[in-house]
Formats: sequence, C-alpha cells, structure tokens
Amino acid sequence: MAEKEHTIVPGQPGKCELEYTSIETISDTVSALRASFDVGTMRDVGFRKQQLRALLKGLREDKKDLLDAMYYDLHKSHDEGLYAEYNAVEFEIGQYLDNMDKWLKPNKNALAMEQPAFLLSKSEVRKEPLGVVVIIGAWNYPLRLMMLPAIGAIAAGNTVVLKPSELSPHTALAVESLVTRCMDESVVRVVQGGVTETTVLLKEKFDHYFYTGSGSVGKIVARAAAEHLSGITLELGGKSPAIVHADVSDLVPTATRIMWSKLANSGQTCVATDYLLVHRSVKDKLVPLLVEAVTGMYGKSPRESPDYGRIVNARHWNRIMDMLAATEGTQIAVTNDVPDESELYIPPIIVDGVRPDDALMNDELFGPILPIITYDTLDEAIGLVNSRDQPLSLYVFAKSDSAEAVLSHTRSGVATVNDTMFSLASQTNPFGGVGPSGVGRYHGKFSLDTFSHHRLIMKRPLWFPTPGVDSIRGPPFTGNANSWKTKLGRQLVYPRLWSLSDSVLGKLATLIPFWRLLATIPGFVRALIQSKPIVQCKNN
Ligand code: NAD
Repeated sequence: MAEKEHTIVPGQPGKCELEYTSIETISDTVSALRASFDVGTMRDVGFRKQQLRALLKGLREDKKDLLDAMYYDLHKSHDEGLYAEYNAVEFEIGQYLDNMDKWLKPNKNALAMEQPAFLLSKSEVRKEPLGVVVIIGAWNYPLRLMMLPAIGAIAAGNTVVLKPSELSPHTALAVESLVTRCMDESVVRVVQGGVTETTVLLKEKFDHYFYTGSGSVGKIVARAAAEHLSGITLELGGKSPAIVHADVSDLVPTATRIMWSKLANSGQTCVATDYLLVHRSVKDKLVPLLVEAVTGMYGKSPRESPDYGRIVNARHWNRIMDMLAATEGTQIAVTNDVPDESELYIPPIIVDGVRPDDALMNDELFGPILPIITYDTLDEAIGLVNSRDQPLSLYVFAKSDSAEAVLSHTRSGVATVNDTMFSLASQTNPFGGVGPSGVGRYHGKFSLDTFSHHRLIMKRPLWFPTPGVDSIRGPPFTGNANSWKTKLGRQLVYPRLWSLSDSVLGKLATLIPFWRLLATIPGFVRALIQSKPIVQCKNN
C-alpha cells in the first residue's frame, strides 16, 4: 500500500482514514464491470435513469456529510460547497432525467440529395455506450469532478470505475459511501488510492479514460489510453489570464469578479484568474478596488472568515510560498494576516510590477496570489497571452470591439467577457481545454457525447439499384463494355458540381433553390450520353 499524504485536515483536525483499495482486487473490479457491460446491464435506458434517481436520492440524504467532507478537506464553506459542487451535481442529474431520452435519440441525418447513389437509403447516427470507462478526479472540487462526468457516463450506458483524489480523503470516502450504498455495483465501483493504485488501475483496459488534474499526470493517462487505442478526455489546467483594458466600462464589478475567481477555494480552481494583465491607464484605479473586493468578501482577516479556504496540504502550501519568495514584484498590503503553515493558510496576496519572466509566471499558481502585469497596448497584452500555452480560460474586461479583438487573436479552452469562471457553471455548454489545457469537453449533453460512440447506421434496399445498375460499384472496370461505370459512377456518388467550376454560370447556380441538386444534372446527362447504354451491361 502506498504512503498516504493526508495527515493534515484543513477544516478540522480529525484524522480521516481513507482505506486504499488493495491492488490485487483492482483487476477483478474492472473485469466485473466489463462482464456486466457485456451482458447488457446498461442497455435499458430505464435502468440507467433508475440508477440516476437512486444517486439523486442518496446525494440528498448525504448532503450534510458531503458538505462536511469538503469542509474537512479544504475548509470549503458549506455555502461554497453547495453552489460550486453539490448544486451542480443535483442540477446535472435533473438535466439528464429531463432530457436524456431526447439526447439519446438517434440523429436522423438527411442523405445529400445531390448524391443519387443514396436514393431510397436511410441513415441515422446512434449514440452507443463505449464500454467500461474510468474517471479519475482531482482534489480541488472533489465532488463535482467525480460525479458530473459519472452522470454522463452512466446515462450514455457505460459501466464506470471512479477514482477520487486521495488528497481530499474525506470527500473520497463520502463519494464511495454514496455510490456503494445507492447504486448498483454492476454499474459503478470506486477504487481508492494514490499513485500506486492509480498506476495499477491504468494498466487495465478501459474504453475511455476521463482524467481531471495536472498535465504531467495527463500524459501518463494518455499513454495508458494509447496502449489500448482508447479515447481520452483530459481536463487539465494552466495559467488563465484576465485582461482589463483601458475602455472597461466599470472597474468596481471588474475588481469583484476577478478577486472572486482568485479567492474561491483559496485560488485552487482550474479556471481561477491566474494573473492579471491591466492597461496602464486604469491600473492605479483598479488596484485599490481589488483590495476592497477582498475585504468586502472575506473581511479584514480572511483567516477568521468561515468562507475562506485552506491550501490542500503542506506540499502545495510550500510550493506556493516558494514561488512567492522568488518573485521580484511588489506585494501590496491586502490584509494584516500572515501565511501560517500549521493551518495551511495563505492570505490573499496581490503582487504588482510583475514581469512576464517572473517566478510567479512560470507555472499555474493554484493559490490566492494575484500577479499584476501592466501593458500599454492591447497588442502587447495579446502577445503576452499568445507567448504562453493556451490557457483553460481567458477573461477580458473591455468594450465589445476590444474584447472581440482579444478573442479573435487568442486561443483558450473557454473565454468570458466581463466576468470570470461563470462559463464553468453553464451546464448547457461544453467545458474543456485546448492544447496543454485539455482534450475533449463535457457538462450536460456534451458529457453524453463524450461517453458515447456516434455510430452511423445506413439502411439500403437490396432491390435498388437493380442488379444491372448496381454492378457499377465493382470490377470489371476495363474494356469498352464497362467504360460507362466510371463515368456514371462518379455522377451517382460524387457528382461534379457546377459550383466546382469557376464559371459565372456556376456561381449563379448557387442562387437557385435546390441548386446543389440541379447542379448535378448536366454532368449526369453528359455522363449518360458519353457512356454506353446501361442495358449494355445486361448483355455482358
Ligand atoms: P491530484 O493530485 O488530485 O491528481 C489527480 C488524480 O491523478 C488523482 O486521482 C491522483 O490519484 C492521480 N495521480 C496523481 N499522480 C499520479 C500518477 N503519477 N500516476 C497516476 N495517477 C496519478 O490533482 P492535481 O494534479 O494536483 O490537480 C490540479 C490540476 O488539475 C491543476 O492544474 C488544475 O488546474 C487541474 N484541474 C482541472 C480541472 C478542469 O476541469 N479542467 C478541474 C480541476 C483541476
């Protein structure tokens, strides 16, 4: 059994003995879920719904335990635990129960009219389960990062292994208790553990690997998936910037929204504002407002605030303090509180005059420190963003033309204008990174897409085209008697469209209703004339 890292509990000094799964049993766990999938346990959508209803019931019964667990792990207040995690999970189950029949319906795609080969054929795209999937979660939002993907995976008809983060042991235990008590073990099972257990787990074959956490472990997960040529979703992080431009319309909500994202969960949020890029003309007005925003939310001593979180463990506390010690920027007094390792407490800290090559600008901060870089032109700010990896999120506070200039010249997983983090709460939109900030997306209907195979089913009549015409598909192609095949075959499957030619007539054709269909006719007629009559093939 691996060494456990959770000796200090930020919310309460009570020790949490999270029992790690014995590595000898991991393979059996996965095999059992595979056998369950193979016998068709998840085929019935009614059964999937019943499992989600059971999860909802258990979630409600365990509400206090779950909120307490997050408080013990991260000093996350019950209110923050509710709105950032519990409510999101409850809402997601509701969304699925309301919509999954509709979302699972096959898409009946029309076959292109201009491809005559598909006349009398039908096609649809069915969302089918992938098989057995593994969901590996991170510690910072330990309930939602486990349950939101799990809901989509189950609704899509997969069986699921959940692997909560060992760094939030209380919630890991609470999630296990919820799942094992309320849900069928033929549907979902929990593996607990650290690196050793996860390494053994990743040796198993899964049909999809869903991972939330750091990019370095993301690569390990991607390698494991590559061994089986299975799909991956990687929900990673990065340095998400907020740009405040000269033409921002109101600095007060701007300051509040930036500090809200910086300090929620003590800065340990994947879409927290990591650093601030501010135009020189508004910087001096914005900085005091940032300080005011802190005291407005957490009082003069955030340490005394029931709403202010703690750093998850001593390793991360020291990591953040080391970066702070190395900065060449200037710390601005925000509160009189000082960092305290015994409580894993770091107060909100704003660092001004930071240069792009400062120690605070190397890695994702994942703590309550806000570095400020001042810029003179929007191009300079855009250049700074583009000189780094694509972030998970990007925030821009500016009038719409400037905001659009930023959006159209940068890349990021998601982006929000005049706010922060809210994109994460929108469960009718896809959430995910790009490049080093992630692969794939989820939330709501998009989770269903992630955990499904979109299987094209095409149905064609055997009697059409008639055998003579149908012989067009295959050899022999050579000889005079068969020259009609290639000429007409092209027009049947991939007709030459007028629009492919640069003629004025071709361009005019695009103005006519059903032009694509009409556009095939001349080529079709030409091919008919050029080819020997089709009857000829019957005489062959
Ligand atoms: P973590 O330490 O909890 O690790 C995540 C998971 O990986 C855990 O279950 C852990 O057991 C497992 N793991 C750790 N080391 C491993 C190894 N060597 N081999 C196999 N498995 C291993 O979380 P973390 O990595 O500290 O997460 C923080 C990062 O996650 C930040 O970068 C943050 O931005 C990102 N994050 C992203 C999202 C998102 O939705 N995109 C959400 C939360 C966090």
